[in-house]
Amino acid sequence: QRILGFESSCDETGVALVEVAGDAPPRLVAQALHSQISMHQAYGGVVPELASRDHVRRVLPLTREVLSQSGLALQDVDMIAYTQGPGLAGALLVGAGVAVSLAAALDVPALPIHHLEGHLLSPFLSADPPEFPFVALLVSGGHTQLMRVDAVGSYEMLGETIDDAAGEAFDKSAKLLGLPYPGGPHLARMAEFGNPEAYALPRPLLHSGKPDFSFAGLKTAVLTQVKKIGPDGGSGPCDQTKADLAASTQAAIVDVLVKKSLLALTETGLKRLVVAGGVGANARLREQLNSACAKRGIRVHYPELLLCTDNGAMIAMAAALRVQRGMVQPQRGGGFEVRPRWELGS
Ligand code: ATP
Ligand code: MG
Ligand code: FE
Repeated sequence: QRILGFESSCDETGVALVEVAGDAPPRLVAQALHSQISMHQAYGGVVPELASRDHVRRVLPLTREVLSQSGLALQDVDMIAYTQGPGLAGALLVGAGVAVSLAAALDVPALPIHHLEGHLLSPFLSADPPEFPFVALLVSGGHTQLMRVDAVGSYEMLGETIDDAAGEAFDKSAKLLGLPYPGGPHLARMAEFGNPEAYALPRPLLHSGKPDFSFAGLKTAVLTQVKKIGPDGGSGPCDQTKADLAASTQAAIVDVLVKKSLLALTETGLKRLVVAGGVGANARLREQLNSACAKRGIRVHYPELLLCTDNGAMIAMAAALRVQRGMVQPQRGGGFEVRPRWELGS
């Protein structure tokens, strides 16, 4: 079966084609992605209305690109998958509208997919996919959760953030340091030149004994330091000071993520960790998880670097894994809804 997948939950338009046959691992045939980052940068964050309009502009050209890369026609598609939520309502509606209309026109089923399930299953797009069961650390721009995953569709929440997500902590701290949106990767790059021990920043809930997170206090602490190191106009605080603060911020976030992941692994007794979501691209997080887990005989799986953030491939892959397991209740006939707020596992 050939599955065409659409992602449009936030500021990336993604389209991809995945092929699934029997029990063999599903295969990514082609994908195309457009990031709206440069468009939103001027506003310091995602502007929902602009996001929706840009999805409208991009989704069909990207679809044509995927088909031409695959050497296929629309008529060769057997099923259409799309992100139903969570995300921005207007942005979701674009992808869902196109997907469901296309499915109706081609007379094939449409399959709604949970965006976080897409992130979570994105390591299945890599050369070395994980085996079930595993603990999943989902660290994205909007979510920070630890889950026990026993199978596709079986997600038990072990703990999550009580306020900001890890990606949000990266982005807000980066903004305070004068870095462009989304600041996570910029802060990470700057941190390479800094001393992670220069500033003693808080690691909230580090010793709570539960796999829960809190990052809101961190940005307040960063703000306090930014104020101390001086005005950020014109020349701004000197680069080394900024790099030290960036490195210390990154270290604080990573310390918490590593400690809580180990806690979840101990609690569940599982020997496998899957990291997913944009923050999963962070080099320090990967290094520290790899070394902590190696000591404990735990295997860690990541998505490919470029598939950590939003993309269509993860949505088509999640659909393919569901199809393979006979877990689909595809829709036919046009009606659809999006779910801007939607808990994974519900
Ligand atoms: P959600 O999936 O929860 O709805 P989202 O789709 O916006 O949120 P992702 O696309 O998975 O989130 O990830 C984007 C986030 O990842 C941003 O906060 C970004 O700053 C962060 N990020 C990306 N690369 C890095 C990196 N190398 N280091 C730290 N953070 C990073
Ligand atoms: Mg994004
Ligand atoms: Fe996402």
